[in-house]
Amino acid sequence: AELDRVSRWTGQGSTSDGHAVDILANVQDGAGARAARKTAAAGIGLFRTELCFLDRDVEPTVDEQAEIYGQVLEAFDGHKVVVRTLDAGSDKPLRFANHADEANPALGIRGIRIAEQDRGILYRQLDGIAAAAAATGSSPWVMAPMIATAAEAAAFAADARARGLKPGVMIEIPAAALLAEHILEHVDFLSIGTNDLAQYTMAADRMSSQLASLTDPWQPAVIALVAHTAKAGAAAGKPVGVCGEAAADPLLACVLVGLGVTSLSAASAAVAHVGAKLSSVTLAQCIDAAAAALKTDSSTAARAAAAAVLN
Ligand code: PEP
Ligand code: MG
Repeated sequence: AELDRVSRWTGQGSTSDGHAVDILANVQDGAGARAARKTAAAGIGLFRTELCFLDRDVEPTVDEQAEIYGQVLEAFDGHKVVVRTLDAGSDKPLRFANHADEANPALGIRGIRIAEQDRGILYRQLDGIAAAAAATGSSPWVMAPMIATAAEAAAFAADARARGLKPGVMIEIPAAALLAEHILEHVDFLSIGTNDLAQYTMAADRMSSQLASLTDPWQPAVIALVAHTAKAGAAAGKPVGVCGEAAADPLLACVLVGLGVTSLSAASAAVAHVGAKLSSVTLAQCIDAAAAALKTDSSTAARAAAAAVLN
């Protein structure tokens, strides 16, 4: 029955009673975007631009960046595409962007913090995204990774708006989740990165398989931070998506919807599974499952509580 539901799913993201949720794909280049286009994904919720440049010694020019970003915009012509600015550092170092020799790179100069050392690298990337948008006639959203403060969000939003781009930020640091209402004063949308949010909430390396039970996005503390962020988005009338691995787990995706998350972005392979599961439950079930998960004290109990409502 589950597989039937997956193969029948049309790409219309919604609960069985019609509560709409965009189901989007995570991609890293034009080829990935063209493959995602063949799934039922309604758009791209996370374009990880840093992964285009892992092999580069020298920063690509604005024109070269525009050409690469344009391939992704073209594949989803007329659809929502969220381009993330370089999330270089930690597990994804870029030779042209990361220069510091750090004892704790996950807590170091990564993501938007690189722009705080060298604004030009962000300006040239935003120029490249704006040029790709103009060349393809599309209106991508842009978001910054690793935002910790409202001031960082404000500065990024100003730089994006100056180029006609719609600004948002990722929520992947607990401080940003807790102050989401302040961050929302500056940006048009939020996207929760549950991979890093779990890592920083639980103080457990996301790359460590020995710590996988701590970085499990079912951890109630992580779910509580998602709940707080989604509530702030609803109060501000602004979209809040999830683009971390949590969105690829069909059961957890329903819980996220119950918390008020407005879009889900997952690896292409997971898109139809998430869409199909969501279409089999009501919004009231999602809300009940979220409330039940939030009352638990462990990831195992949270998953079991949600499953009791949703399965
Ligand atoms: C995340 O942290 O959840 C996220 C989507 O970003 P990345 O996995 O690229 O760090
Ligand atoms: Mg991240």
